[in-house]
Amino acid sequence: MHTKLDPWSSSEINDYSKLFEEFGISPFDNLLPEIPSPHMYMRRRVIFGHRDYEQIAEAMRIGAPFSVMDGFMPSGKVHLGHKMVMDQIIWHQEMGASAFVGIADREAFSVRGFSWQKCREIGVEEYILSLIALGFKPDGLIYFQSGCENVKDLAFELGARVNFSELSAIYGFSGETNLSHMISVATQAADILQPQLEEFGGPKPVVVPVGPDQDPHLRLTRGLAGKMSMFRVEERENANGGKYLSVRGKGAPKEALQELKKRIPGKVKLYEEHLDIIETPNYPFLERFGLQINQPEKKKYFTTEIEVGSKFVNEIKPPEFSEYEKYFVFKKIWKLTRKILEEIVAEVTAEFGGYAFIPPASTYHRFMSGLQGGKMSSSVPDSYIALTDDPKEGAKKVKRAKTGGCVTLEEQKKLGGKPDECSVFELMLFHLLGDDEELLEIRQECVSGTRMCGSCKQLAAEKMYEFLKDHQEKRELAREHLDEYKIIYKK
Ligand code: SF4
Repeated sequence: MHTKLDPWSSSEINDYSKLFEEFGISPFDNLLPEIPSPHMYMRRRVIFGHRDYEQIAEAMRIGAPFSVMDGFMPSGKVHLGHKMVMDQIIWHQEMGASAFVGIADREAFSVRGFSWQKCREIGVEEYILSLIALGFKPDGLIYFQSGCENVKDLAFELGARVNFSELSAIYGFSGETNLSHMISVATQAADILQPQLEEFGGPKPVVVPVGPDQDPHLRLTRGLAGKMSMFRVEERENANGGKYLSVRGKGAPKEALQELKKRIPGKVKLYEEHLDIIETPNYPFLERFGLQINQPEKKKYFTTEIEVGSKFVNEIKPPEFSEYEKYFVFKKIWKLTRKILEEIVAEVTAEFGGYAFIPPASTYHRFMSGLQGGKMSSSVPDSYIALTDDPKEGAKKVKRAKTGGCVTLEEQKKLGGKPDECSVFELMLFHLLGDDEELLEIRQECVSGTRMCGSCKQLAAEKMYEFLKDHQEKRELAREHLDEYKIIYKK
């Protein structure tokens, strides 16, 4: 059976690995070594997948501009599930991202039928106060979709590039779907692309941390990023099965094409099928962009064949490095060449008033389960902890939560517990214990039967009480300092 991803109904995904095959989401594990000081959710595999996060990891490593963007539909109480997303936005902001947070009131209006006033109240009282209390910095932008002219204009333009059949294939829309709902989908795509507008510094990698149910928005937006761009840098295949990079500009103005040709003098080819060694050239083409190739010892690097205009790099030396090293260096050159092309394309596009969107990246995190097992549901208050719950009530909910323990103490001592099926362990894993060692110890004690559920519940309840109390004090502070933040409201 195929997995259905629907952003508007609470999803429960039983087998996350299926998403890798079915939707082309890549596993996050392989990327972990490339991320400087990875977030707790990355280390603990709460974030299990991504699309194109390599570009974000690289931007963090080299200090290049990048953005994080996310949105919240103002539909009810802000809870620990929303905190997961907020934590990731704030972490990326700390890692150097410019941050954008959209309050999706257009979506709440069209899907839930909420008034604009109600959207504003919930947006501020629930989401914005908690976001700031958790550490969102004032240099980020927070906006209500209905008040953001950029987003509304861009949504309208995006709407011209998508038709009903595509929306219906991605979201399962039918003849019953109202028009505003469709517009809200274009608005979400505009939210995601907004950080790349000229006003915010132009094209750059943008990451959207989401649960897998939000992937349809990412798929739509990634497709639209390509369709809206004046030019596209693509990896293509030649007749021999080798890959090369090409720039295409379907529908671009003639003058823009001519300008592009001038700046990329001739063809840029980077073939993958021949591996030769060449002396590192003094590459003005790279220097122009302040880029340097990390040169291995002996000042040599590997590539296949690079032709930049009429300048052929052709000083071929006998191979001295292993195939692995060749592959590694080749990949580096490939990435650099692609980056340079994208920058030239972005320059020309901006001069001719077009768009040069880079398809957005995304990360996917596991859902929290309900405190009583099964799904979290906003209509069952005992299934989740709201960030505005009375701290004593929050602690009580932890004590009532379903564990992965056995029915009797004897059995548990003999067989051990099941932390992977335990809501209390999940709370500690996702939110309450920052220390990996301590968490691992609890896990081992649980599995080996030396830990009983009572002690976990006591520990988690105390931590929850402290967290909620502290968070709510910070929310009140945030309320006093709201006017120090850039927030765009509906006029
Ligand atoms: S001992 Fe702790 S981690 Fe293990 S099942 Fe009980 S509550 Fe969960």
